[in-house]
Amino acid sequence: MKITAVSAVYPNYRNVPASWRTHFWQIVVRVETDAGVSGFGYGGGGRAAVEVVNRHFAELVAGRDLGSAGAIAAIWDDLYRESLPYGRKGVAIMALSGLDLALWDALGKAERRPVYELLGGARPEPNKDRVRSYATGVDQAWYAELGFSATKFPHRWNGEADYDSAAAGAARARDAVGEDGLVMIDTYMSWDSDVTTRMAGLLEEFNIYWFEDVCTPDELDAQAQLRPAVKPVLLAGGEHEFTHHGFGEIARSGALDLWQPDITWCGGITAGLRILDLARETGIPVAPHRGGEVWGLHLITASDCIDLAEVLPGTRDGDSDVLWIGEPIAENGYIAPTDAPGFGVRLNEDLI
Ligand SMILES: [Mg+2]
Repeated sequence: MKITAVSAVYPNYRNVPASWRTHFWQIVVRVETDAGVSGFGYGGGGRAAVEVVNRHFAELVAGRDLGSAGAIAAIWDDLYRESLPYGRKGVAIMALSGLDLALWDALGKAERRPVYELLGGARPEPNKDRVRSYATGVDQAWYAELGFSATKFPHRWNGEADYDSAAAGAARARDAVGEDGLVMIDTYMSWDSDVTTRMAGLLEEFNIYWFEDVCTPDELDAQAQLRPAVKPVLLAGGEHEFTHHGFGEIARSGALDLWQPDITWCGGITAGLRILDLARETGIPVAPHRGGEVWGLHLITASDCIDLAEVLPGTRDGDSDVLWIGEPIAENGYIAPTDAPGFGVRLNEDLI
């Protein structure tokens, strides 16, 4: 099977949430082949990443072989090398992620197998036929009604009053999932070392599983020093890091207890597999960012990622765009990929 064409597009999202990072700037990449199948992938980086795919990567991959995982890895390595002067992290790798995922989707469709089977099938231990999921957002009472036993709430530091707002959020979340549930906090880089240390003491009674993104991804040494100070809370992060090269820096600095690569940003399934190799060597657990979306879910199912997939249900009365038709939905706190070929989803052309 050979690649005949590659193109990317930024969808016409309609339901624009009240946030600067609308839809995480996600793009769609399409790969066409001479075998009569097309592959679709989801990348990041917005219109800038669309340009990277259409004006650089497309001409480099046209005519390339796409018959195996090894062929995809070879394409990945070539595109990484070709984009290296302006790439390595950020927009270029977010573009590469979308293309990599489209290649895996096409390979799965050509072989009539889901991507998780191309990766070796659902892991038996722990049983990954379905993956425990956690709900990220602010409507904890609703998530509990939906059956989630694990939840993460966002918390932004603006000043002293936010020690109280964090405690109130933690109390609400703990109340919703009960004694045995998991509660996590995502600070989106708004805490710092002092705030994090004080929060660890203040929130002790709520038994928080992890603090996420307490510093910027450049502050690796600070986070390495924080790890012992916040124990037993785990320091989590990595959604803003890229490829196995970037996670190698995290490994060497000892900055994090838990890694969260975003499979649609960090370099796709190909980079995800390499990051997992590194995590295994380093003894660090991995829980992909937005792992309940098919792109991460197939990898979690077929790998030694921990048994936890992030989903974003929004709010009880909220509305959202359905870009990918056929995405699995968490039921009673568990989620599983379908057996449909590739990633098992269809692009909603109405948004293109
Ligand atoms: Mg996060």
